Amino acid sequence: MSRKGFDLFDLIKKVLFTDFVKGLTVTLGYNISKSITMRYPDEEKWIPYRRFRGLHTLNRDENGRELCVACELCSKACPTGCITVIPEENDSGRGIADRVAKVWTVNLVRCLFCGYCEDACPTRALRLGREYELACADYSCTLMSRDQLLVPQPVPESIPGGYVVKSKLERTPQGIKVTVDLSKFKKRSI
Ligand code: SF4
Ligand code: SF4
Repeated sequence: MSRKGFDLFDLIKKVLFTDFVKGLTVTLGYNISKSITMRYPDEEKWIPYRRFRGLHTLNRDENGRELCVACELCSKACPTGCITVIPEENDSGRGIADRVAKVWTVNLVRCLFCGYCEDACPTRALRLGREYELACADYSCTLMSRDQLLVPQPVPESIPGGYVVKSKLERTPQGIKVTVDLSKFKKRSI
């Protein structure tokens, strides 16, 4: 008896295409809902929050002097030993002290982006920035030097982040370059 009732119900469902209509409703719902897909990197790029830990940055004070005093605390705190600091005496005013870094390198292949080095830095010279496009074809480019890290990153610390900005993709002989327009952004929760 119940078996017969079930079959009848199934037949009605088939005749009325209820499963097809149900599926179509889901598809149509997604068609009219707001897209969450990001057109990265051709047109859009995610700017992380300040708490993000990306590529290291070495900073200067307001007079342009290097904040790094080559104390080596960052390299001592690093659990993977990927920071190398070689100090030198220099009283030319290059740094905030007479001791500056002759060599300051970080090996990104070994870096965990844990932030211990940043926490250990007494002068706030070292910060982990918001640069995350770190892929490269050549192994040598994974060793970042002091000169490279002293160049200000495209996303300054003053920008809170947590949104998507317009970006432009350029193919250069050195590889792909993504430039961002930080003035035009839209909020998006990720
Ligand atoms: S983020 Fe962590 S692993 Fe990377 S250099 Fe700093 S301390 Fe070392
Ligand atoms: S970055 Fe900071 S912790 Fe590392 S050597 Fe320079 S001053 Fe010291």
